[in-house]
Amino acid sequence: MTSHPQALPAERKALVLFSGGQDSTVCLAWALSRYAQVETLGFDYGQRHRVELDCRLNVRRELAAQFPAWAPRLGDDHLLDLALLGQISDTALTSERAIEVAASGLPNTFVPGRNLLFLTFAAALAYRRGASVLVGGMCETDYSGYPDCRDNTLKALQVALSLGLDAPMTLETPLMFLTKAQTWSLADALGGPALNALVVEHTHTCYLGDRSRRQAWGYGCGECPACELRAQGHAAWLAGTAP
Ligand code: ZN
Repeated sequence: MTSHPQALPAERKALVLFSGGQDSTVCLAWALSRYAQVETLGFDYGQRHRVELDCRLNVRRELAAQFPAWAPRLGDDHLLDLALLGQISDTALTSERAIEVAASGLPNTFVPGRNLLFLTFAAALAYRRGASVLVGGMCETDYSGYPDCRDNTLKALQVALSLGLDAPMTLETPLMFLTKAQTWSLADALGGPALNALVVEHTHTCYLGDRSRRQAWGYGCGECPACELRAQGHAAWLAGTAP
């Protein structure tokens, strides 16, 4: 008999990488519908859309208030300060490849391998919190420019983390092969119209951090790439559900 019996899925504890955006909110709902205990983790690395961080606690509070079955499963929130990432994304310090980064269409705030760093910090925290599942909103469909979001990258990292921690660490990415429209559908399947309304009202995606303008799909400038993706996905989802 093993001294580390593998818990059944419902008994396992999950740690969700939770930014307060649409994708990670749907991931949090997904985890709350599956696991007995769910904690959340955010990263503060001086991102321009810091307003996302302010949305995190609102989303957690609304999920607990509107979904009584999920409330007792929602555990502690953690916020890790990764200000050092600012040193790597600063083009003044990394000018040798600044032009390449710009020419590739990636934003100049791009931090190479950022998700590898996030997940490695998350795994270290999960280990200390007794969690064996990490849940993240990485997606190949809409972010194919980011190699650290690819399914095979994350599968390889899952193996590396499980070996390096000498403890099983499962990386779950429920959005990996979904379009933005399908992410809205998943929210609907998990929590019905109430969850979709919560996503619209309380999550934040806009790169510019604009919450002064309310669109059909939520708050945002409506013009940055993140707003465009969110708006197009919402429109496609609505078109798909129209009678
Ligand atoms: Zn925007």
